[in-house]
Amino acid sequence: MAQLYYRYSTMNAGKTLELIKVAHNYEERGKRPLILAPRAGDRYGTGKVVSKAGIERDAVGFGDDTNLLELFLAENGVAAVDCVLVDEGQFMKKHHVVELTEIVDGFGIPVMVYGLKNDFKNELFEGSEYLLLYADKIEEIKTICWCGRKATMVARVIDGKFVRKGEQILVGGNEIYVSLCRKHYKDGMIGDETTRPAAAAERVSEAAEPAGAGNEGGE
Ligand SMILES: [Zn+2]
Repeated sequence: MAQLYYRYSTMNAGKTLELIKVAHNYEERGKRPLILAPRAGDRYGTGKVVSKAGIERDAVGFGDDTNLLELFLAENGVAAVDCVLVDEGQFMKKHHVVELTEIVDGFGIPVMVYGLKNDFKNELFEGSEYLLLYADKIEEIKTICWCGRKATMVARVIDGKFVRKGEQILVGGNEIYVSLCRKHYKDGMIGDETTRPAAAAERVSEAAEPAGAGNEGGE
């Protein structure tokens, strides 16, 4: 039975890299993944999914009003689609999520959505809310706070300062996002600038090791 998967995490946990690996696995078996990306999350208008490690793939962008079932049917008409992968799923609208369930239930095609759960105010994104409500399988991709505890929250940082107010989605801003444990989110402690980004980069480069390198993470 095909299922709708929601694989969520905080920032810098390697979600996009994971999506690219899954797409690659399908292709190795001669199958076709359809990669979708909401335009709301495509800050640079690239039409691609780009991992923090710099690995990228072309994706089909979609807008707030796009019907994903119709998009799927059009793509499936060109060449049979074996699975649908969605990046930045938090930026979807409710109707997008419902349309994804129609792809799963009506066509038996698995759909895997990668995205955040919590926004920087620690509220759910619209896409996240309906993915939690509709997904068959909900899986966490784990990452850690600078202190070593599991990170469950995302802080917005502008000019080195923890920011708690503002729009949920900033377009073209100079903000960065930092994954924190609950305690340090509440305390507003974003960690040391020299240790935090280095640790994040190291995790990503480890995850980017090619398969078969013999040292894949045990997560
Ligand atoms: Zn912490």
